[in-house]
Amino acid sequence: MIIIDSHIHIGQWSEIFFNYNSTVDEAITVMKKAGVSAAVCMPADNEQNEKLFNEVINNQNFKFYFNAWINPEDKILDGFLDKHLKNISLFKIHPSIQRKRITDESYDKYLQIAAENKIPVIVHCGRWQDIASYKFCLEVSLKYPELIIILAHLGGDTPSLYLECASEVKKPEYKNVYLGTESVREFKFVEQVINKAGAEKVIFGSDYNLCLPQTFIPVIENIDISAGDKELIFSGNILRLLGFKD
Ligand SMILES: [Zn+2]
Repeated sequence: MIIIDSHIHIGQWSEIFFNYNSTVDEAITVMKKAGVSAAVCMPADNEQNEKLFNEVINNQNFKFYFNAWINPEDKILDGFLDKHLKNISLFKIHPSIQRKRITDESYDKYLQIAAENKIPVIVHCGRWQDIASYKFCLEVSLKYPELIIILAHLGGDTPSLYLECASEVKKPEYKNVYLGTESVREFKFVEQVINKAGAEKVIFGSDYNLCLPQTFIPVIENIDISAGDKELIFSGNILRLLGFKD
């Protein structure tokens, strides 16, 4: 079965992860060892988009899709996007690190670019409900119905939040909202998410360089769903979404 890891970081984190740093070569070794064939990669929060982009975009040893980190306060972000938009596969928004809800107006222009160019946006969703609730992403989805949004950590990283989120995203008005499995461990509840939301909504990710794909691949492998559904989660859904962009 082809496995694409749809959520990996490479490079340097700020103090939130003790300035931890990892390289492209380390990522390739870990991905290959885990049987992963391609990865959607984004910088860590203290790494420049341009530096990582140059290292991965035409990498001869591994297939990477580049995911640009969208910090509205990054002064060189707009220039980077202008220059490389056709080779940028996704955008990443991290409300908790940026300390801004995704509904903050500073994100608007980037959400418009993403919607117009059919660039999926991966949004960190967590337990900090004031800032990083999946509910703000659903508001954004109503405002930009064509925008493809992937809610990371299944929309909340804890069963009470992500089970509730799975029922919401099933609604027809959220047809362009997807759920990423990165760093979720509770396999029986992940199974419930898939049963509620549908396998066509769920996308595998590991959150490497913080976590390992080898930790999270078995979560999906051991769920009692069809091989076809597993294939959607491991690669089919993300490839379909990436294919919308020209
Ligand atoms: Zn992440």
